[in-house]
Amino acid sequence: MQLEQIVDSLREEGHRITPQRIAIMDYLLNTEDHPSAELVHSTIKKRYPMVSLSTVYKTLDLLREKKLVNEIEVEGEARFDAHIDDHINLVCLNCGKIEDIDEKALRNIQTKVAKKSEYLIIKGSFELHGYCSKCKSKFQ
Ligand SMILES: [Zn+2]
Repeated sequence: MQLEQIVDSLREEGHRITPQRIAIMDYLLNTEDHPSAELVHSTIKKRYPMVSLSTVYKTLDLLREKKLVNEIEVEGEARFDAHIDDHINLVCLNCGKIEDIDEKALRNIQTKVAKKSEYLIIKGSFELHGYCSKCKSKFQ
């Protein structure tokens, strides 16, 4: 979804839309980092030094409630992803990096599972845990 659509729909529902909130949404839509709330906060603070961590939490809560971001838990830490189409997250257990695997790979798996289980599969995302290309040499 585009930033303008998100802002419009939240505004229509009577939510207060501040420049800080828009900046948080804009950052989430344009990053592939799957940031934690703390990383969102430190990023937004560069432009809006007065923004508080609690504003960040409240905005993330609202976006999650509206199903505009997904929350992924990595090693007990909540991470946020505005890419809400079905996809696979690859999670590095060492550095915490999260990468998306394209939808086509997920579709292939869903097709195979549907055939085997005789389910009609509608949606689903999941995570694969391991070590990223930079970290894996330490664990092989
Ligand atoms: Zn790593």
